[in-house]
Amino acid sequence: MSLETYRLTEEPRYHPSADEIALYEAAYEMRLPVMLKGPTGCGKTRFVEHMAWKLGKPLVTVACHEDMTASDFVGRYLLGAEGTYWQDGPLTRAVREGGICYLDEIVEARQDTTVIIHALTDDRRILPLEKKGELVRAHPDFQLVISYNPGYQSVLKDLKESTKQRFCALDFDYPAATIEANIIASESGLNPQDAQRLTRIAGKSRNLRGKGLDEGASTRMLIHAGRLMVAGLPITQACKFAVITPITDDPEMRSTLSAAVDACI
Ligand code: ADP
Repeated sequence: MSLETYRLTEEPRYHPSADEIALYEAAYEMRLPVMLKGPTGCGKTRFVEHMAWKLGKPLVTVACHEDMTASDFVGRYLLGAEGTYWQDGPLTRAVREGGICYLDEIVEARQDTTVIIHALTDDRRILPLEKKGELVRAHPDFQLVISYNPGYQSVLKDLKESTKQRFCALDFDYPAATIEANIIASESGLNPQDAQRLTRIAGKSRNLRGKGLDEGASTRMLIHAGRLMVAGLPITQACKFAVITPITDDPEMRSTLSAAVDACI
C-alpha cells in the first residue's frame, strides 16, 4: 500500500478555538515536531486530520497501546514464500516517503519504544532501523505529531522529560460552548437549540471532574447523543445512553448527572 492511500481527499471539518491553525502551519514550515495536549474526545485527532488535508500531506495515524514494541512503529522481518523480507512499519513509511505521522496517546506505548523517535525530533531527522542495520533519513516533508492526555498520567506513565522537550505543544480543551454547539450541530445534524442544551449538560458534567468523575462528557460523546436525538430518541434517553452510562458506574453520580440533564431541558 503506498503512502498516497493515506492522503485525505475530503476536508475533515474543523472549528478552530484560537490560533492553533496558524501555529501548526508555522511548526510544519520549520518541520518542528508538535505535541497536542488535552482530554480525550476534544478534537486533537480531527485537528491533525484537518491540518494534513490543508497541507496536502498524507497522514499516518498510530493508536499507541501498552503492548506496543519498537517493531510496531519501525517494521519487522516477515517470513514469506521466498524467505524473510523486511516490512516497514507505519512510522518508517511516513519518514521515508514524507508524510505526517501522528502517534495517538504516545504514553500508552512502553517508554523504551518512545526513545526511537528521539533522533527524528532533532536536527538529525534520522530513524535507525537497528534490526535491519539501516539509517533512514527523513524525507523533507516528514513531520511527527504526538497526542498526550495530561489528565491520565501517573508517575509510571508519563512522557520522559527528554521526550517532552523535543516538541512544540498546543493545549487542547473542550471548545467554548458556542463553538461546541456548532460542532455538535454540524457533526450530528441536530438543531442548534438542542445542541446548546447538550453543551450545558456537558458543562455540568465537566464541573464534576475530580469530584467523582475522572473526566466530564467529551465533545465526541455529545455528538453521539446528538445523533441519537436525530434518530428520534428524546434528550434524556440519548444522554443516558451516550453520556451517563458510559462515563460512570457510580449510582449516585449517575443520578447527579440525570438531574443535570433534567435541569437543562
Ligand atoms: P481526540 O483526538 O481529542 O480524542 P477527536 O478529534 O477524535 O478527539 O474528536 C472527537 C470528535 O469530535 C471528532 O470526530 C469530531 O466529530 C468532533 N470534534 C471535536 N472537536 C472538533 C472541532 N474543533 N471541529 C470539528 N469537529 C470536532
